[in-house]
Amino acid sequence: MSRTRTLGPSTAAIHGALHPRPDRSPVAPPIVQSSTFINPVGGNDEVLYTRYGNNPNQVEIGEKLALLEGAESALFLSSGMSATAFALMAVLRPGDHLVASAWIYGGTRRLFLEQFGQLGIEVTLVDPSQPRAFTEAIRKGTRAVFVELVANPFMRVVDLEPLAKQCRVSGLALLVDATFASPVNCRPLDFGADAVVHSATKYLNGHSDVIAGAVAGTAAYIDEVRHLLHVWGPSLDPNSAWLIDRGLRTLSVRVERHNANGLAFAGWARKHKEIVAVHYPGLPTHPDHAVAKRMLKGFGGMVGIQVKGGIKRVERALRRLKLAFHAPSLGGVETLVCEPRLTSHAMLTSAQRTALGIPDGFVRVSVGIEDVEDIIADFEHALAG
Ligand SMILES: *Cc1c(COP(=O)(O)O)cnc(C)c1O
Repeated sequence: MSRTRTLGPSTAAIHGALHPRPDRSPVAPPIVQSSTFINPVGGNDEVLYTRYGNNPNQVEIGEKLALLEGAESALFLSSGMSATAFALMAVLRPGDHLVASAWIYGGTRRLFLEQFGQLGIEVTLVDPSQPRAFTEAIRKGTRAVFVELVANPFMRVVDLEPLAKQCRVSGLALLVDATFASPVNCRPLDFGADAVVHSATKYLNGHSDVIAGAVAGTAAYIDEVRHLLHVWGPSLDPNSAWLIDRGLRTLSVRVERHNANGLAFAGWARKHKEIVAVHYPGLPTHPDHAVAKRMLKGFGGMVGIQVKGGIKRVERALRRLKLAFHAPSLGGVETLVCEPRLTSHAMLTSAQRTALGIPDGFVRVSVGIEDVEDIIADFEHALAG
């Protein structure tokens, strides 16, 4: 195969960059469960040390993600939160200002509002549905813009193209958390973003058995993130890196199935008389359907549904689910349900949540890759009770 030909995402996720493998080398990579590595005496080469993120298992998945995102480089860290924190700390200094979408993960919101303030970094949260919101929030001292591409709990989709243009004109870095989309459904760098962040805990790993995060971008930028990793230290352990490598091999087929199941589930939910609202970007009724069609190759496996009748009614239904587990998190092979009133939006009162469009009875579904007829039958039975 010629060196210049770019591999498709399924191939890249399985093989990484193609390089010759010596006879009798293992097809499945070994877990290099070593904290440190033997260095040549008198050598000036890079020191290999697992905290530095240069253990072979860590390097392997970083190269794969870079290929998948169309980035020069990528680095895995111990969680999505450490990846988000370092992705931003690599570009922000005390006195700098960050403009962020208000449609973000609760932990990210706390990072911005609790922690960044202490570092002397001010954050302004804006409503991305207001066309001029980002432009109006930019001021002297603004250095970066942060958005989640597809956001909880309404699966709102942010249009990256105008934002990337604005950031370029203003000399700002655009960072995108693309956890819900995965590189199979969208590569933010293709739309002009400067860096991508993932909670690899979710679709990248896909099996609900690892906590990890990743950042992708230019080689110089990833070196900055790596520098933070060296000194702050939240590296990914080799065993988890190996599990992510295992997970990545099936990323394409998993996400394709999540897309198909998500669409089928949302279509079913829309017609169910006990479900009063369905939030899924693949539905023509979704406010961002047109943006989603332009930005996403598939609409994903995350669906928000509003069940009729309040807390008692929804709890009864959730207890009757046999296949779907009641658990936070998302992006695994198994279907999970959670209630934002107890998880992402627990700090608000019921009235505040209702005002935001998340009344009691709102359920977030991470549609898994089981047979979709079984998933639907499970919810059908639960709601019939
Ligand atoms: C889960 C999640 C995070 C945090 O990731 P962890 O791996 O739990 O640290 C960040 N952003 C989004 C969109 C998430 O869903």
